[in-house]
Amino acid sequence: MGSVQIVTTILAAAITAVAVWLAVRAVMKMTAVIRLGQPAPERFSDKGARTRTMLVETAGHTRMLKWGVVGAAHWFVMVGFIVLSLLVLEAYFEVVTPTGGLPIIGHWTVFGLATEIITVLGLIGILVLMVIRLRNRPTRPGGRSRFTGSTMWQGYFVEWIVLLVLIFGLLIRGFKVATDHFEYPLWATPVSHAVGAVLPDWSDGASVAALIKIAISMTWLIVISLNVTMGVAWHRFLAFPNIFFKREPAKPAGSGLGALRPMTSQGKPLDFEEADPEKDQFGVAHVEQFSWKGLLDFSTCTECGRCQSQCPAWNTGKPLSPKLLVLSLRDHAYAKAPYLLAGGGKDLTGEEKATQAQLAHLDVLALAEADKPLIGTAEEGGVIDPDVLWSCTTCGACVEQCPVDIEHVDHIVDMRRYQVLIESSFPSEAGVMLRNLENKGNPWGAPQNTREDWTKGLDFEVPRVGEVDDFEYLFWVGCAGAFEDRAKKTTRAVATLLNEAGVKFAILGEGETCSGDPARRIGNEFVFQMLAQQNVETLNEAFEGRDKTKRKIVATCPHCFNTLGNEYGQLGGEFEVVHHTQLLAHLVATGKLTPVQPVDGGVTYHDPCYLGRHNRIFAAPREVLGDAIEGDLTEMPRNSERSFCCGAGGARMWMEEKIGKRINVDRVEEAMATGAKTVAVGCPFCSTMLNDGVNGKGAGEQVEVIDVASVLLRSVKPEQPQGGKETAPIGG
Ligand code: SF4
Ligand code: SF4
Repeated sequence: MGSVQIVTTILAAAITAVAVWLAVRAVMKMTAVIRLGQPAPERFSDKGARTRTMLVETAGHTRMLKWGVVGAAHWFVMVGFIVLSLLVLEAYFEVVTPTGGLPIIGHWTVFGLATEIITVLGLIGILVLMVIRLRNRPTRPGGRSRFTGSTMWQGYFVEWIVLLVLIFGLLIRGFKVATDHFEYPLWATPVSHAVGAVLPDWSDGASVAALIKIAISMTWLIVISLNVTMGVAWHRFLAFPNIFFKREPAKPAGSGLGALRPMTSQGKPLDFEEADPEKDQFGVAHVEQFSWKGLLDFSTCTECGRCQSQCPAWNTGKPLSPKLLVLSLRDHAYAKAPYLLAGGGKDLTGEEKATQAQLAHLDVLALAEADKPLIGTAEEGGVIDPDVLWSCTTCGACVEQCPVDIEHVDHIVDMRRYQVLIESSFPSEAGVMLRNLENKGNPWGAPQNTREDWTKGLDFEVPRVGEVDDFEYLFWVGCAGAFEDRAKKTTRAVATLLNEAGVKFAILGEGETCSGDPARRIGNEFVFQMLAQQNVETLNEAFEGRDKTKRKIVATCPHCFNTLGNEYGQLGGEFEVVHHTQLLAHLVATGKLTPVQPVDGGVTYHDPCYLGRHNRIFAAPREVLGDAIEGDLTEMPRNSERSFCCGAGGARMWMEEKIGKRINVDRVEEAMATGAKTVAVGCPFCSTMLNDGVNGKGAGEQVEVIDVASVLLRSVKPEQPQGGKETAPIGG
C-alpha cells in the first residue's frame, strides 16, 4: 500500500464511519416518529399479495411508467442506484489498492458488462430527470409547476450526487484502463475504455477517484441523515414499505380509492352504537392520531408533485395541493415528535399527558409546534388551513397519480371527521344538507313520498320490491335520480331501456333513503352509518334468501354505486352492484337493445371520478356511446384515469365555491373546446355541474349535457319523447 493509498483509505474510513453513525441515528429517529401513529393491524394481512404488489410496482415501475419518459428515466436511475451500490462497495477496495476490485464478481466479464450498461443508461436517465426538473422549475416564466412548493435544492442535490457518482465510477475504470490494470475486454466496456484513452497513466488515479466517489456518496448519506424529512432521497428506502403496507394490495391500481377507510380508534373500526367520544378517537385532531401508515405516507413523499399537477382544486386556484398538504403534515409530525417522544400529547378530553418534568428540557420549537392546531387559519397558527381541508372533492386524482401509493383522501377525510363530529366546524352551507339527511333521508329535504314521482308519465308500470320477487336487478334510483329534474330524465331513460330490453327489475320506492355518500365524504360518519345501516337492512330484506351473486343492484349515481358496492360490506351488506352504463353496454352487446339512429353532432364523454378513477369503469360508457353515436367519440385531453373532476364530489356539491375559478367552468371549457355538441355524463352530480357550467357560459343552446343512458335512448327509440314528461321540481 503506497502513501496515497494510506491517506485515501483513512479518509474513506473516517467519512464512512461518520455517515453510517448519522444514518443509524436518522433511521432510529424516523422509526420512532412513525411508531407514534395509531395501530393499523389490517396492514399486515395478505403478505403474499403485498410482496407481489411491492415487487411489481418497484421493479416494474408500473405507476411511474404512467408518465412515460420520466418513468423510464427514473427506472434506469433506480436500477443504477441498486446495482451500482456494488460499485460503491468496490471503491473501498480501490482506495486500498488502485488495482483492487470486488471479490469473485469483480473480475467477471458479465459483471463488467452489466455495470457498464447500467452506468450509461443511468447517466442518460439522470440527465433526462435533471432537464425535466429544470424545465418544470417553479421559477420558470409562466404557469404553475408541479414542483411549486417542493424543496428544490434537495432535488437538485440528489440528482447531482447521482450524476457525480456515475461519472466518478467511469473515471475509476478509466484510470484502470490508462494504467493497464483493467480486466474487462473492450467489447464489454467500450465507454470505460474510451474514458481511459483520454486519461493520463497515473498509477494512483483509481484510488483518488474512488476516494472522491466514496466522499460524494457519504456526503449524500450525511446530508439525508441530517434531513430526515428529505423525501426526495428517503423514498429510495421508504417506498418499499409504503407500497407493501398500502390499503388494498390486491387492487391492480388505486389502493386508497373506492371505499373510504372506516373510522377507527386504536386501530379498531368504530361502531356508533357503542362509540364514546371520551374514550374513542373520532377522526384526527392531532398528527399523532393518524395511523403509523399515515406517518409513513408523509415520510415517503418524494415531492414529485404529480398529485398537485392533477388536483382540480390546485388547478383552479384554490389553496389545496395534495403534495403541500402531505408536506405540511410531515414537517409538523417531525417538528412535534420530540414533544411526543418525551411523553407529551393530549388525551381525548384535551388534558396534557406529560408531567412538567418530562417537558422541562424540551426545545422551545418542539413545544411551539405542539401548540399548533392541526386545522386552523394562518392567524391561528394552524398546520392545515380550513380552506385547504374543505377544498377537496375527494376526486382521487392525487391517489391515482402518486408513485409511492400515498392515500391522501383517507387522511383528508379523517381530519374532516374530527372537525365535523367533535368541533361541528365545516362550511355552514353544508349544514342544511346534513340536517336534511338526518331528518328527511335525502340531501335536498324533499318529502319521502315524492320518491316515486319520476315514474309518472312512463308508458309502463315500474315494479316495486315486495310487489314482485322475481326481479333480477334492484334498480337503486338514488336521491338525485328521484328528486332532481335532470337526473329524473336519466332515471326514466334507464327504466325505459331496461323495460325495452326485457330486464326484470324493481325499485325500493319510498323504502330507499340516501346512500350516505355525502355524509361520509364530508366527515359525518355518524349520519353515514345511520343511513347505511338502514339501507343495508332494507336491501338485505329485499334480497332475503339469495346468495351474493343474485343480490344484483343497478345504480345510475356513481356515488351510490361506490358506496353500496364498496362500503356497505363494512356494515354487513354484500351486493353485486353495477353502474347503469355497464348494464346497458351488456344489453347492447347481447342484442337486447339495438341502437337504430345514431346521435350526431359530435359527442364527448366526461368520466365521473367515482365511476372512473375510483372504480376503474372507463370502457362501458364508451362502448354504449360508441354504439349510439355517429362517428367516433371525441375525447377531451384529460380523460379516463386523468379525467378532471366536475367539482361536486366530497360533498362539495353542497358547499359554495368561493375561491379561484369554478372547477365546473374549467371542465366545461375543456369539453367545449372539443367542438362536441353533446357532453355525455354518467353521474347526476356531473350533469348538474356541467349543465351549470354550460349555462353560465351562455352556451345552453349550442351544447347539451346529458347522461349516456339518454344518448342511448335517443338512438334506440328515436320516436320517444326524451326523458318522458317533466315532473315537479325538487321538493315540489
Ligand atoms: S382528492 Fe382530488 S381534490 Fe382532493 S386533494 Fe386529491 S386531487 Fe385534490
Ligand atoms: S404524487 Fe405522491 S410522492 Fe409525489 S408529491 Fe404527491 S404525494 Fe408526494
